[in-house]
Amino acid sequence: MFDVAPRFFSVGQHPVFSVVIPAFNEAACLPVFHARLSATMDALGTWEAIYIDDGSTDGTRAVLDRLRRDDPRIAVLSLSRNFGKEIATTAGLDHTSGDATIVIDADLQDPPEAIPALVAAWRQGFDMVNAQRRARAGETRLKRATAYLFYRLMRHAGRVKLPPDTGDFRLMSRRVVDAVAQLREQHRFMKGLFAWVGFPTTFVLYDRAPRHAGETKWNYWRLWNLALEAITGFTVMPLKIATYLGLAVALLSVIYGAEVVIKTLIRGNEVAGYPSLMTVILFLGGVQLVTLGVIGEYLGRVFNETKRRPLYLVEHYAPSRSRVGVAE
Ligand code: UDP
Ligand code: MG
Repeated sequence: MFDVAPRFFSVGQHPVFSVVIPAFNEAACLPVFHARLSATMDALGTWEAIYIDDGSTDGTRAVLDRLRRDDPRIAVLSLSRNFGKEIATTAGLDHTSGDATIVIDADLQDPPEAIPALVAAWRQGFDMVNAQRRARAGETRLKRATAYLFYRLMRHAGRVKLPPDTGDFRLMSRRVVDAVAQLREQHRFMKGLFAWVGFPTTFVLYDRAPRHAGETKWNYWRLWNLALEAITGFTVMPLKIATYLGLAVALLSVIYGAEVVIKTLIRGNEVAGYPSLMTVILFLGGVQLVTLGVIGEYLGRVFNETKRRPLYLVEHYAPSRSRVGVAE
């Protein structure tokens, strides 16, 4: 089919490493990022970079096209709109061909220079190598505290153990990527999915840098929603809480009811008790609304999953030219 011999990958026409980089409005970071990535990867073996333009509005696509013109190892996958980092990452994973895949942010918070350590662990036989943050430079104390609480909560609530202080920065073997590719749920909490597949896992420490340019896309509202995805996607703890809360309230009501009956028998019927009545009614009403909301969160997710929509739509895919061995 190809009349030109593969120019970059001699063995089996696929690179050893695929690097997946989700990018949303990262035009200012990408050229520097790619230069640093190339410098690191060139020393490791054959590789391809799959950049996912997640519906950016700042010219990220043009920057990527320009980078790809100069570097045949770059593939550019443009999604039809902004689907969010979790889905953008999935789209990238779907287009990898390497024996090992590295997922890394475009903003240089995950230093490409940490990749050789991940690769070394993979060469020792680990399928999943998590990059674990040693220090969270450039992050507020509040963000650190909420992250800490979240990981502790998830550890105790779910059956899947989330590694603390790890982001999506990691290396995965081919079989892990293939396993993750089978998980097509709409509500994606990637860290949870990565943990769910299992396989021999290890950690490599690295220092997380502050953002190179641009700003974070995660405000507290988005983080809160991510936490909701994680909790409802991987645990039924809130449903259990609702059950036990209901039980506790019912038990207390029985005790209180008994007290009322006994008092009435001893002292006769007095028409007091309006405040206690209101308290009980309002409290029960609140508990019921919260419980309904919790059920609604799960029901909404069931609703979204049953629609069976594709996870993402590709607006344009420019494959890496070295993968097929043909110069464009
Ligand atoms: N990102 C994305 N789609 C989004 C939001 C973010 O692809 O809707 C990418 C972003 O370009 C970056 C990575 O996900 O490469 C991490 O995003 P960010 O730096 O905003 O998150 P933080 O590092 O603050 O957690
Ligand atoms: Mg970042």
